[in-house]
Amino acid sequence: MDTWRRPITLFIAIAIGAVIVGALANIVVALAFACVVLMLILVAHLRDLTALQRWLKDPRPETMPNVSAAWEPTFTQLARLIRSQRRRSAELRVTLDRFRLAAAAIPDGVCMLDVNDRIEWCNPTAEVHLGLDAKRDVGILITNLMRQPEFVAFLHTEPDAPLPIRVMRDGRELALALQMVPYGQEQKLLLSRDVTRFEQVETIRRDFVANVSHELRTPITVVAGFLENLADTPKPPPEFLERSVHLMRDQTLRMQRLVEDLLTLSRLESEQYPLKEAPVDVCDLVRKLGADARGLSHGRHRVRLDLDSHSRLNGSEDELRSAFGNLVSNAVRYTPEGGCVTIGWSGRGAESVFWVQDSGIGIEPEHIPRLTERFYRVDRSRSRSTGGTGLGLAIVKHVLHRHQARLEVASEPGKGSTFSVVFPGARVLAAPAEKVASPQEPLPESDSELVAQRRFEVG
Ligand code: ADP
Repeated sequence: MDTWRRPITLFIAIAIGAVIVGALANIVVALAFACVVLMLILVAHLRDLTALQRWLKDPRPETMPNVSAAWEPTFTQLARLIRSQRRRSAELRVTLDRFRLAAAAIPDGVCMLDVNDRIEWCNPTAEVHLGLDAKRDVGILITNLMRQPEFVAFLHTEPDAPLPIRVMRDGRELALALQMVPYGQEQKLLLSRDVTRFEQVETIRRDFVANVSHELRTPITVVAGFLENLADTPKPPPEFLERSVHLMRDQTLRMQRLVEDLLTLSRLESEQYPLKEAPVDVCDLVRKLGADARGLSHGRHRVRLDLDSHSRLNGSEDELRSAFGNLVSNAVRYTPEGGCVTIGWSGRGAESVFWVQDSGIGIEPEHIPRLTERFYRVDRSRSRSTGGTGLGLAIVKHVLHRHQARLEVASEPGKGSTFSVVFPGARVLAAPAEKVASPQEPLPESDSELVAQRRFEVG
């Protein structure tokens, strides 16, 4: 009703005006008067309409034109509408930005495809996985960019399992699992997951099980063969019996060593066994290892100790003894008779180094990066014949990792090897005062050719 009050009032005023003019003059003048007034009103409306059209091109409340009272409510309402629209679009922009950030944070690739399999949008992970460009490739058929036949077939069926594919990215092979999820009106979400690491772990697991089975099969077969022979021979000759028992014991020991090494590895890998830290007297440990080496060598090698520091280590003595013992045992086992094995402990700046040097068979450079892999052996038969399990350096690697230490290997085939364990300064403890006071402490039961015990540099 309010809308009509103004025009009705205006028309009544014009009619009254025309009647007065008619009474004063005549009817023609009255009509002319009414026409002129109406035309003036029309011109005013046309002017406001033009202003409205001009303003709508860039409708900002602050640039709203001055218009006649009749148009004012229209402009005010439009301005209100524009303001609320702006608020809503700002809110939408914030939501969209949040969605973009969330989509970018998803570790999986997400690509939206329309009914015709054209790319609508994709997140940064999908750009990497599928080799797309989120800006350039919008509207392009996904099969124009990913042409693998298995992918094209996958796109056009209703797959119930993810599609595994391999792609090269930056010179690296990625193993991807692709999944298709229908949504909306026949649109599709193409999801990609990087399963490279998972596949590697799976391969390591399979290889590990195969290796363990292989390692156990030989001794079990030997023992089973001897037992069968013994069962078939009611009264075996004593020499045969003695030889069989001897060989069976060797094979059993081999299995025992393998199982012990496997248990050690699994304990080291388990988070349930935190590192039991205590100050470890490395000099004392080196002396014990020297004695072990001599026992293992049976006088076939010269064993030397080179103690250049009295520093102690903060760590687990059992684990360090096991790791260092493996290095010492390898040095003895891979050094021919008459060779020399040196066990040392020295400082290197803030770091400290435990090292074992041998004059043995050495290692070709291409094998060095793989030595700490489980069951990796350069010479399989030599490792077995000297009682190796192929797990020694894997155990060393784990123990060092738990002590934030690193292994350095320097070797020359035919000349020998040096395995150095470098401990960070944070693991090194200063020598106790009494050791610093009397550094020339004699070594026990020294049957070594030369015991090099130099001045201790403590600190
Ligand atoms: P293994 O029980 O076979 O000795 P390890 O894990 O201790 O297993 O060592 C892995 C391989 O590294 C060995 O099989 C051997 O080929 C090589 N290796 C380790 N230490 C030495 C060394 N001091 N000299 C030469 N080769 C070595």
